[in-house]
Amino acid sequence: MSDIKAWAHDMIKYAVRAGQMKRQPCESCGAAKAQAHHDDYLKPREVRWLCVRCHRAWHREHGEAANADAPIPYGQHNLWTDRLSETPPSWIANLETRRRGDP
Ligand SMILES: [Zn+2]
Ligand SMILES: [Zn+2]
Repeated sequence: MSDIKAWAHDMIKYAVRAGQMKRQPCESCGAAKAQAHHDDYLKPREVRWLCVRCHRAWHREHGEAANADAPIPYGQHNLWTDRLSETPPSWIANLETRRRGDP
């Protein structure tokens, strides 16, 4: 999984945990258990909820989502934290550390 995909999924995980976003059933078939799918990884807030089968079908039809190879847009983590008074979660700090370690 490329970094930006992991980043976008972490964004969703964090938003769900912070109560900013709710998991939804599959928007295609209504299955209760669905995964967050991004049409565009640079728009981490914009997801479709798709079950495993519908998710696979989407990618078969549309291929890879947009910006799957883009660099992680560091600094945009305020997308999630601007409405919270708590310190950013540790995974953000980990991303920052990783970036500073890059040559
Ligand atoms: Zn489905
Ligand atoms: Zn997907």
